[in-house]
Amino acid sequence: MSGSGTASSDLKRWKEKCFAQAEELEQQEKSFEDHTDLLQRLLVRVSLAADGLNEALDTELASLRDQLRKGTASKTELSSRLSKIEKAVLALDEQKSERTSKVLEALQSLVDQLLELALERKQRKQLKQLSKDIRGKKNGLREYPNLLMQYAHLQEDALKHQFSMIGQENKNGILQRIFGTNNSNGEAIQTDSATLTTADSEDKQTLLDEDATELDLAENGDDVELTPGFSAVSKHVSIALSNLITQLSIPENVESTAEKIQTTIQNGLNWYELGPTIDDVANLVISSVGKGQKDFELFLQNLDDRLATLQSFLAASKSQQLDWQGSTSDLDRTVRDQVKTISQEVLDANDIDHLKVSVTSHIETIIASMDNFVASEDTRIDEMNKQMEAMQHRLQTMETEAGEIRSRLQVERAKALTDILTGLANREAYEERLQMEFERWQRYRQPAAIVVADIDFFKRVNDDYGHLAGDKVIQIIAKELSNRIRKTDFVARYGGEEFVIIMPETTLEDAIPVMEKTREMISRLPFHFRDENVQITMSFGIAAFQDKDSPAEIFELADKALYKAKENGRNRVEISDNSSEI
Ligand code: GH3
Ligand code: MG
Ligand code: MG
Repeated sequence: MSGSGTASSDLKRWKEKCFAQAEELEQQEKSFEDHTDLLQRLLVRVSLAADGLNEALDTELASLRDQLRKGTASKTELSSRLSKIEKAVLALDEQKSERTSKVLEALQSLVDQLLELALERKQRKQLKQLSKDIRGKKNGLREYPNLLMQYAHLQEDALKHQFSMIGQENKNGILQRIFGTNNSNGEAIQTDSATLTTADSEDKQTLLDEDATELDLAENGDDVELTPGFSAVSKHVSIALSNLITQLSIPENVESTAEKIQTTIQNGLNWYELGPTIDDVANLVISSVGKGQKDFELFLQNLDDRLATLQSFLAASKSQQLDWQGSTSDLDRTVRDQVKTISQEVLDANDIDHLKVSVTSHIETIIASMDNFVASEDTRIDEMNKQMEAMQHRLQTMETEAGEIRSRLQVERAKALTDILTGLANREAYEERLQMEFERWQRYRQPAAIVVADIDFFKRVNDDYGHLAGDKVIQIIAKELSNRIRKTDFVARYGGEEFVIIMPETTLEDAIPVMEKTREMISRLPFHFRDENVQITMSFGIAAFQDKDSPAEIFELADKALYKAKENGRNRVEISDNSSEI
């Protein structure tokens, strides 16, 4: 019994193990199926992404997708399909490289067409260099825009030379901007596609094949520059452009544009359509190549901005009109050198990345020069300002000093013209004034009078009451005299106890009563010396201004009249004999 019991437990254990393994196997199968399903879906997606590259590949991929979706693909079938797909992919690679060569060939043929024209030596040399570059470029699509742009530049130069036309920028597209199509009046000519589409293609071809003179007249009807020789190259150019488009891998979103351009080209290009069409082709190439070109455009935009900044800086600097001779010539030289190098490098550029680094470095040099220039200008202006401030300060000091000296001189002069004892004008002041009044009298002949007055017996005052008493008398009489005369009159101490009065605008008749009154007032002044009442009197001689050789002679007349007053008993007013005669 124990033997059969053991066998039954073994069987049970084996059964359980078998079930467990079956279950594990089932799970593995499920996981494998999931994995396969995932791979199949992935394969469908990838095959869709590769769709449209090549017809044979498309057929194989479509069948593969079909089988994968239905789940009908056997291992053998899949293996045979894989080998077909491999072949198609290899063929695609070859086709791609063939396309690249054809694009370059097309470009080469455009260059060759241009070389057939009569060119300047330099243009020919540049074209040959481009031709060499085209032969050297086997890297594919990336190179197209750069080469095409170089070609556009050279074509512009060559055609300008050929037709002596002045280009004007058309900002609608990159190549049009570079290339431009202008008439002789400098106005941009728009492509007249309506004219061409209404004519049937035969007529158009006839037009294209005919002499360009007729074409131009038919298209524009006015005096547009003629384009001899264009019809000779137009066909070749059209074919080359058309080939170029055929070889491009055109993205879906621009396919219709590509077709339109192809139609335009195949319908035949006239002279005025050539520029815009090349521009369109260039845009097409750019769209096909994508990001690289966008980077380059962005870079060019940045370059534009920086050059604009530079330009506005220079304009602003110029308008400041400062004396920059030394520093500006340095800056000018640096800027010129750098810009010249940039231009050359842009022309010679084959490699966008290299060009970016190089141009950026030149711009940095220019900006550094500008910074140096600004810094040195700032320093110079600071120094100039400091110098100016110092000069202004010195000038102010000098002005202040000059002002002080002037007022001191005025004071000195006033002092020099003033009598210390009486405060009246002194002899010098009197001489000046008499001279002036005499000249005025000579000019206007208005009546004027002069009075000479002298204190009577003054010696006695000094002798009897002392010199200081004498001085006091002189001071009091001086005050009285100046109180009696009018503002327009002038009184001076002539010397000792003698005074002189000038009376402008005054006749002798008017002067006499004034002096009489003065004489009387003086004679009544209450002088007290040593408790004694002392009377002080004064004698006056008056003369009218008259024709004499000098003012001194006028004085002489009055002095004589004074002498007469003394003679006639003092305390009197006498007039000059001459004056009474007048
Ligand atoms: P008259 O004029 O009436 O003929 O007699 P007089 O005494 O005034 O004579 P004279 O003119 O010759 O004398 C003037 C005197 O005045 C002489 C001088 O001593 C005196 N004298 C001149 N200047 C001053 C002065 O500044 N102060 C004083 N105290 N005396 C002076
Ligand atoms: Mg006297
Ligand atoms: Mg005297």
